[in-house]
Amino acid sequence: MDQLPPPPIAEGASPAMAQWFATKAQHPDALLFFRMGDFYELFFGDAEAAAEALDIALTYRGEHRGERIPMCGVPAHSHESYLARLIRRGFRVAICEQMETPEEAKRRKAPTLRREVVRLVTPGTITEEMLLEAARPAWLLALAPEEGAALGAAWLDVSTGHFGTERLARADLAALLARLEPAEVLAPAALAADPVLAGARVTEATPPRDGERLVRETFDVATLEGFGQFSPAEITAAAMALDYVRATQRGAMPHLSPPVPHGGQGVLQMDAATRRSLEILRSERGGPKDCLLGAVDRTVTAAGARALAARLASPLAEAEPIAARHDAVQALLDAPPLRAAIRGALKGAPDMARALARLSLDRFAPRDLAAIRDGLERAAAIADALQEPGGLVTVPPLLQEAARALRPLRDPAPELARALAETLPARLEDPGVVAPGYDGQLDGLRRLRDDARGAIAALQLDLAQAWGVASVKIRHHQQFGYLAELPAAAGEKLLREPPAKAVGELFPIHRQTMANGHRFTCAALAGLDRRLAEAAEGAAKREKQIIRHLRELCLAAAPGITAAAEALAELDVHAAAAEIAAEGGWCRPEIVDRPDFTVTAGRHPVVMAALARNRAGAFVPNDCDLSPGRRLCLLTGPNMAGKSTFLRQNALFVVLAQAGLFVPAETARLGLVDKLFSRVGAADDIAGGRSTFMVEMAETAAILNQAGPRSLVVLDEVGRGTATWDGLAIAWAVLEALHDRIRCRTIFATHFHELTALAGKLPELAPATMRVREWKGEVVFLHSVAPGTAEKSWGLHVAKLAGVPRPVLARAGAVLEALEARARGLDPLSDELPLFARPAAPARTPPPDTPPHPVLAALAALDPDALSPREAQDALYRLRSLLDGAVPGGKQVVG
Ligand code: ADP
Ligand code: MG
Repeated sequence: MDQLPPPPIAEGASPAMAQWFATKAQHPDALLFFRMGDFYELFFGDAEAAAEALDIALTYRGEHRGERIPMCGVPAHSHESYLARLIRRGFRVAICEQMETPEEAKRRKAPTLRREVVRLVTPGTITEEMLLEAARPAWLLALAPEEGAALGAAWLDVSTGHFGTERLARADLAALLARLEPAEVLAPAALAADPVLAGARVTEATPPRDGERLVRETFDVATLEGFGQFSPAEITAAAMALDYVRATQRGAMPHLSPPVPHGGQGVLQMDAATRRSLEILRSERGGPKDCLLGAVDRTVTAAGARALAARLASPLAEAEPIAARHDAVQALLDAPPLRAAIRGALKGAPDMARALARLSLDRFAPRDLAAIRDGLERAAAIADALQEPGGLVTVPPLLQEAARALRPLRDPAPELARALAETLPARLEDPGVVAPGYDGQLDGLRRLRDDARGAIAALQLDLAQAWGVASVKIRHHQQFGYLAELPAAAGEKLLREPPAKAVGELFPIHRQTMANGHRFTCAALAGLDRRLAEAAEGAAKREKQIIRHLRELCLAAAPGITAAAEALAELDVHAAAAEIAAEGGWCRPEIVDRPDFTVTAGRHPVVMAALARNRAGAFVPNDCDLSPGRRLCLLTGPNMAGKSTFLRQNALFVVLAQAGLFVPAETARLGLVDKLFSRVGAADDIAGGRSTFMVEMAETAAILNQAGPRSLVVLDEVGRGTATWDGLAIAWAVLEALHDRIRCRTIFATHFHELTALAGKLPELAPATMRVREWKGEVVFLHSVAPGTAEKSWGLHVAKLAGVPRPVLARAGAVLEALEARARGLDPLSDELPLFARPAAPARTPPPDTPPHPVLAALAALDPDALSPREAQDALYRLRSLLDGAVPGGKQVVG
């Protein structure tokens, strides 16, 4: 966040400013929205920061210690849009309200109104529609370090009431952050400084004392055991989050579901780099449709979109719950009328979870009550549809469960339907929330009010007669109530000589002279005005009482409403998955507990959609087989041939399938994956700061250290980020490690032709290549994957396609020929370079005391990013001579 400058010394301030100083002192890190009448005003440094951030005028108000006071303000009735911009810019905002009317303050003989901070607005504690992203959760994540290298984590979404916890190794924090993408992170100071949190919005927080009690009391239970097993640090983290919510809401607590311990088991592990490279929830460069979520999202509600995003962000890793989801999708795929009925009822269904959050925090609008009414009505309609699932023989358990949750035992909808007016005002303060006929007392008060209004209209006729002025108009004024207005001439005449009939109750009393007229009242008008004000006030008061009652009604039914809202979101996801499966001919993946992986006619959902959008031709489906015996697919082919697409599409199948969705293929048989890794060799990314090759290697190291036999690894051009020879060397060694030691399913795309020499040496390596055809000297990409290796790299053809000038191409062709001629004189690489000879038997761990080969040691000592081209070449010569010197016979086994 932008640092706010400290305010000046308070001494000598006016009473209101003194109050401002005192309040600001309690919230030095927040912008203070200081309510003054119809505006929230900001002063001093706050004003300067906000005026700049909001691009509004900075003005001045009075003086303080001889200096003008910088000030800016936003209108109270439209402050939300300003808040939204400030929160997005990284500010926190303290809302300081007037807690009494000017009359009340006068009666107390106080120098200024009483004001209090009623709420602290932070990115992780917002509930306003305008401040939230409809289709994304807004997680507040609290972190509590344990002794050693573990953490307790708790995350809650104030806007929906979801609440989860997990105990994790500190090393897994980056992955958790990537999974949740929290809006705000609470961490103790020591942890807050950890570089892993550098990209997050961190608020320092200290764990509350006796956290367990705080959690128990919040949920009104004697023990937390009923909610599951929590580690002490998870409870501490949960308490930190609750404590923070309570502090920012000034004691008010939103409706929260009890915390659910996740424990990290049963979910597919993906680290931050994998999520980034697979572009699951967002794309690195493209628009919102260019990520997996954007391409497959067919949900029709915001809550459904959030649920789908949550599923794709954490797919499961256990066969049974995945199959249960697939059953639900299959059922809705098999019963198009039922699917259409569900989607039809869901379309336009309100966001009940978020409405309920606003109700529970007492920050709601009439439409939030209507949202509960309409949401529950739609839920009931869908439950009816599920009762008569035309064509379905059996309703799968997940759909049955949802159907039950759609009908809460305590259902406030019928009463809300009776109580709420047909068209609702935008704000609670405006009259007309409650429907006529719901409450006799309110109806009576409203009648009184309306009678008085009618009486005023009648009085206007009487006055026209009595005062002899046909053009007299009775109008209402915010400040003075009802007054009779006359044009200037008629008004002056009435002042000079009131007609004989204008007597008693109708005798004119002058109130005001205006530019072009006069305002009068009379005893009759004043009396009516008073009666009307009283009736209106009475009606408003009664209406408030009724609204309170309706709110209570909803809060008493909160758990049922939450469950119904979740069921609606789940159904939206299942139906959306069935919809896209029907639309695109997707298949139900068969999930097995063996390390299988066979896909026929697979398509990349995002690339395919992009091709269709741009009318750029048909997508070519491809098979993939990583079954035992051919676990490692080594994919070669020129640039632009479709390697990266193929690689990612198969990784995305795992995400989709294990999230419970179908996959864009004809058939798919997928062995459960426990950890999914995806890496792209570094393209130059200087803006990123870190040396890209360093990043590439760090990410590769993470795979080699974490992947296991049930993992799927896709590597795209790893080794590209450095000079050819050491890049090749690294790629080679990584491939061998994946094949021999880790034994996971792997797709490895490379433009290093030389790697295909490994084909005969690694028994489970299956070489594949992107088919390319040469046609009249041009290269044509067929985008299909075939067994075998690429004949050549086609680099010059691609260069030509890209528009490299002819003389340069011709020269490159000549150089290539010379190089190839030289290479023909050499042995195949794997025999030529003993460096690449494999250990005789696959060693699970390298023997500890073998001294590293001198070439390897020299290689390790190189910093490729620090080398000039000239130095790099020298280094290569040195390596080469080391090799020749070390191995006179030309062969050596490296351990
Ligand atoms: P590579 O990684 O081999 O350089 P990409 O996977 O990036 O190639 O693909 C390049 C382009 O080719 C993609 O943007 C896409 O437009 C097109 N493409 C890739 N795969 C297919 C396919 N299976 N069918 C049709 N077009 C494809
Ligand atoms: Mg590529």
